[in-house]
Amino acid sequence: MEIVPKQPTVKAPGERFTGDAWYDVIAAGQEPSRIRVNVVRFAPGARNAWHAHALGQTVHVTEGIGRIQSRGGDVTEIRPGDTIHTPPGEWHWHGAAPGHFMTHLAMWEGPGEGQGPESEWGDLVTDAEYNEPPAK
Ligand code: MN
Repeated sequence: MEIVPKQPTVKAPGERFTGDAWYDVIAAGQEPSRIRVNVVRFAPGARNAWHAHALGQTVHVTEGIGRIQSRGGDVTEIRPGDTIHTPPGEWHWHGAAPGHFMTHLAMWEGPGEGQGPESEWGDLVTDAEYNEPPAK
């Protein structure tokens, strides 16, 4: 067993996030484990850039009100207790709703030996994209 002491919270980088977000690394498995778990805290209006995960991702909202969108889909409001799975290679973004903080667990897997990057990153989400009224 290994008890890992609390590590400092990391500010999410401006190239990949709009607004203020911070994360804590909860799990980053050593081979053969490829588990990745972060707790991510978004300030109101903050969101990550368009991105896709090689092996998909599961997001579980623990606090606040958020928004998520897949490329070509509706902006959707997400709330505590909601779990969202994005399949491998599906472009999407996630973040806080306007006027609300949002915290989620992000769970994904690193790629196997000799495979590509675990995530691909694209453009920042514009205000026009972000402010589209949620479908629900
Ligand atoms: Mn994601």
